Amino acid sequence: MGYIADNIREVLEEVGKAAARANRDPSEIEIVAVTKTVPVEKIEEAVDSGLTILGENRVQELIDKYSLLDGVKWHLIGHLQKNKVKYITDKVSLIHSLDSVALAEQISGRLDLLKQEMAVLVQVNVAGEDTKFGIGPEETADFIDHVRQIPGVRVKGLMTIAPYVSNPEEVRPVFRRLRTLAEEVKTIGFPGVEMQHLSMGMSNDYTVAVEEGATLIRLGTVIFGQRN
Ligand SMILES: *Cc1c(COP(=O)(O)O)cnc(C)c1O
Repeated sequence: MGYIADNIREVLEEVGKAAARANRDPSEIEIVAVTKTVPVEKIEEAVDSGLTILGENRVQELIDKYSLLDGVKWHLIGHLQKNKVKYITDKVSLIHSLDSVALAEQISGRLDLLKQEMAVLVQVNVAGEDTKFGIGPEETADFIDHVRQIPGVRVKGLMTIAPYVSNPEEVRPVFRRLRTLAEEVKTIGFPGVEMQHLSMGMSNDYTVAVEEGATLIRLGTVIFGQRN
């Protein structure tokens, strides 16, 4: 077994420990293997080790790899430009990065509404960083109320990218805020909206994210090694 299989085994162990610390069932947590810049042979090793959800943040890379890998689901995890929507609505099972009403309308317009829906997560810029996409925490409920009425667009939860810090404990409040936001939305009870997923946690902070309730963790470096 190669280093990717070893890395995955270690990650699963850490996820199990973090889940135990939070009294969570580890089966609630799924890994999105982030494959940006990773060659297909390496991705295949991860798939052989049991990872079946792959995440790309660039549409072109997703399309290039899409036809080369079988038996996997693709998630779009990065900022999505409206003019790229048409390339992916038939390829991805979840878009993590819904950040505008205009994007939701574009997605809707590309669906065959008789037989197709698109599951999306609302990206929230919890920490208010200028460099990050996402809507503000205080706008989240209104935003969801708006997009839930757009045909075919199904809100399934929230996503955030925490600021990069050397000690992941520093971003625990960010993850906790995303979870309480999801609880607030759930309490309002918008028809058609589910708060099934919290997409949060990356290589440097996923154990804290799991402790705070992540259901999807997006991992690149810790599985495939440093990107060049
Ligand atoms: C690259 C990327 C990740 C994975 O980052 P790592 O630190 O390598 O785990 C997760 N989420 C998004 C949105 C990314 O762009």
